[in-house]
Amino acid sequence: MEIVTYPGPALRRGGKKIEVFDDALRATAEAMLERMYESQGVGLAAPQVGLDLELLVLNPTGDPDDRDGELVICNPEIKSRKGNEWGEEGCLSFPGIYAEVERAKKLVLSYQDLDGQEQELRADDFLARIIQHEIDHLKGVLFVDRLSSVDKLRVRPKLQDMERKFEARV
Ligand SMILES: [Zn+2]
Repeated sequence: MEIVTYPGPALRRGGKKIEVFDDALRATAEAMLERMYESQGVGLAAPQVGLDLELLVLNPTGDPDDRDGELVICNPEIKSRKGNEWGEEGCLSFPGIYAEVERAKKLVLSYQDLDGQEQELRADDFLARIIQHEIDHLKGVLFVDRLSSVDKLRVRPKLQDMERKFEARV
């Protein structure tokens, strides 16, 4: 399982609603968690590994031994948001790029687990930030879309460099 880096087209395609909750989905989620830990990330969305599914995995500690911190989220929907806060983010699809993004401070999320059971989750601070970042991926939205105009200018040369390298590959 390879991570799609910017400007890989899969990143803009987003994900489709999951209808079938089977062993294949379970295996995909497990492989995504493994890939996330290998890359020292705290979250990974299916479009980042080239899959057009509304599936994301996360663990705010990024610690593979901390199974309690793991969340596998299917078909998420943010029901409510409260407050706003700027905070630094990075993304496995943008190695080496970090910038401040404004996100809701608290949210209520509804989603389905790997058994297709409806779940509700209240999240704040870092967990809420990860969830919002990963849900963006399911809609083809990237964190660089949400930067301040100053940061957009700052990261532009790095993005252009990634675009050039991508064009040289394809
Ligand atoms: Zn990301």
